[in-house]
Amino acid sequence: MLTSIAGRSVIVTGASRGIGRGMARVFAAKGAKVLVVSRDQAQADAAAAAIRDEGGSASGFAADVADAGAAARMAEAAIDRHGGIDILCANAGIFPGAKLSEMTLEQWNHVLSNNLSSTFLSVSACIPALARTGRGRIVITSSITGPITGSPGWSHYGASKAGQLGFMRTAAIELAPRGITVNAVLPGNIRTEGLDGVGGDYIAKMTASVPQGRLGGVEDIAYAALFFASDEAGYVTGQTIVVDGGQVLPESLSALEEMGG
Ligand code: NAP
Repeated sequence: MLTSIAGRSVIVTGASRGIGRGMARVFAAKGAKVLVVSRDQAQADAAAAAIRDEGGSASGFAADVADAGAAARMAEAAIDRHGGIDILCANAGIFPGAKLSEMTLEQWNHVLSNNLSSTFLSVSACIPALARTGRGRIVITSSITGPITGSPGWSHYGASKAGQLGFMRTAAIELAPRGITVNAVLPGNIRTEGLDGVGGDYIAKMTASVPQGRLGGVEDIAYAALFFASDEAGYVTGQTIVVDGGQVLPESLSALEEMGG
């Protein structure tokens, strides 16, 4: 049983849907006050309203965290509304596909800006408030793609997700004297709204590569983030946890075939 995080101020970027929304719901269910951030005010508000309907404390805030000014306003909003910032979940991200042979510099920069620069900007904006708590927590949503695996069409995405870990390791050292931990969750294939409509065949192919025989749920990622955010994880910093149902484990096609029984 982890020490309660009731009353703590949490920012979740990219919380209008998908993994971030799952994190916001789980943190709110544990009594935290959550700032639900996305670029779209209406969608952020809708996700926050759904959390309040479930008895949680949450409000929406529109910020493009790839923009330094917007990231700063996001931090100010959490301080104004909730009295400070205890936990930052830097989760916002995009994953448009583009094969390397056709990728433009603009496409590359777009993904690096939204996934990697946004992590730096969110963290930077929140450092002073996190430090004031004496036990600030930063949880970054990276991916297995980049740090561990590759996937055609996602070289820019993989670079951004591996880059987050490089950033994290030095940030963890620099922020340790200020009582802030920095850790990362690496999701495998997670069932989000983005997969609605891709078709059963596609889902079946994705599922076939997972030893546990199912895609992850957003709560699977949220509970790993909750651990990193807990008081009990205070001596854990600069670390990663893979949450993928064993997806990275099979070393060969025959290992995959064996999984079928
Ligand atoms: P998603 O369903 O598309 O949700 C992405 C969220 O981020 C939305 O709320 C989106 O809202 C927001 N967002 C995107 N860019 C933003 C920006 N610049 N500023 C503020 N908000 C922004 O994606 P997801 O699948 O939940 O992915 C969330 C994170 O998990 C990403 O970092 C992704 O790389 C990582 N991940 C996902 C999976 C997976 O299987 N789903 C696997 C590994 C890692 P707006 O569009 O309204 O801004």
